[in-house]
Amino acid sequence: MTNSTYLKRVFQSYYRERKDEIIPVSSLKKREFGFIPWDKKIMIRHMGFSDINLLREYTVNNPPRHMYSSGSLYNLPNNQEMEYKDYVGCDLIIDIDVDHFYTPCKDKHDFWYCQECNHSGKGMIEKCTKCGSLKIKKFSWFCEICLDISKKEILNLIDNFLVPDFDIQANEMQIAFSGHRGYHLKIENDKIRQLTSEDRRELVDYFTGRNINFQILGFDEHAGQIFGFLNNNKDWSRKITDKIQNMLLNNTNEEITKFLEQIGLSKNLIISFINSKDYFLNILKNNDYNLWNIEGFGITTWKRFLKGIVHEIGVEIDEPVTIDIHRLIRYPGSLHGKTGFKVQALTLEELYEFNPLNENKKHLNPIVFESYEYKQKIKISSIEIPEFYIRDKTYGPYFKDDIIDIENHIAILLLSRDVAILEE
Ligand SMILES: [Zn+2]
Ligand SMILES: [Zn+2]
Repeated sequence: MTNSTYLKRVFQSYYRERKDEIIPVSSLKKREFGFIPWDKKIMIRHMGFSDINLLREYTVNNPPRHMYSSGSLYNLPNNQEMEYKDYVGCDLIIDIDVDHFYTPCKDKHDFWYCQECNHSGKGMIEKCTKCGSLKIKKFSWFCEICLDISKKEILNLIDNFLVPDFDIQANEMQIAFSGHRGYHLKIENDKIRQLTSEDRRELVDYFTGRNINFQILGFDEHAGQIFGFLNNNKDWSRKITDKIQNMLLNNTNEEITKFLEQIGLSKNLIISFINSKDYFLNILKNNDYNLWNIEGFGITTWKRFLKGIVHEIGVEIDEPVTIDIHRLIRYPGSLHGKTGFKVQALTLEELYEFNPLNENKKHLNPIVFESYEYKQKIKISSIEIPEFYIRDKTYGPYFKDDIIDIENHIAILLLSRDVAILEE
């Protein structure tokens, strides 16, 4: 039996036995639905459902590999042409996925090889480190560390941007673990629904801190003197001064040095900064004094420093997802076809404690096929699978052609990721 045939059956049993996991999203009738089946890579979209039971029935009869619904609302969601769907508005969709940004654990669990020169290596890269070719085959994995970074990013967005700057209420946020390497957030708010793509792009710039103009925020140079931010300002300048204070108070000199090295400051400038720590902290605490006078720090150095700070504060979001009003996002309660894990809806309160790979609240555990009695024999088809850790157990590393008799949920994970085949 092929992986797809087998997994389709397994997914079907889930959709049949756990119908209630497919929870109704708001305005279900006005959403467009999309499905990726097991036999084709193309998404079947432009579908609509008039009630949740019809949707549940559909998933039993056509168990999808991936399942999505739109952030947008339409009066005619199942019309085949975008322009005739009669668009009503679009929720703000935010996708945070470690796929898109560097995490230190990737140096351990991600690897690649060059199809041009056969060179290989670990970590996240764009082109071959030997020949520079872009023909790279990448094998990525995930772990508690990157999932935790992903969670911190979504909490950063909520706690430091959406709530304080936009007054978004907890009940307007639909949060979900994606079933793989990240989290989704859908903001359902009447005003936000009416934003154009251009407005959404500006929001993305605000969340990421990209294109930030320090002068507009009040940072400037006059007659060789640097005038920094006052700490009673709002929005980004406040975030920046808070972050700097936090760094000066809580980070060790080694940590600060590392940060300054990363942003490219010279040894002398780093020493000068470390020596001025108390002085700088006093200035930042003072509400009406903003002359930032650190030896060797001219406007260029300061801007470099501020950019580094902004990078630490900004949120790593997948930009096109937020800007595009016709995007579909994973449906809560459906299964992710690359893991067999459930897309788990979470309240903000649940999110703080949530641990996808080792969740102890049964109703929140995304590993729906968890079983220690039922085992499955599979053969590894990937060159290498790094050691990984799920539900308090360590697995691997595994190598090509290894035959393993393994717990059901791990077999489903490896088959879904297409790094193993069924061994009969
Ligand atoms: Zn190469
Ligand atoms: Zn990781």
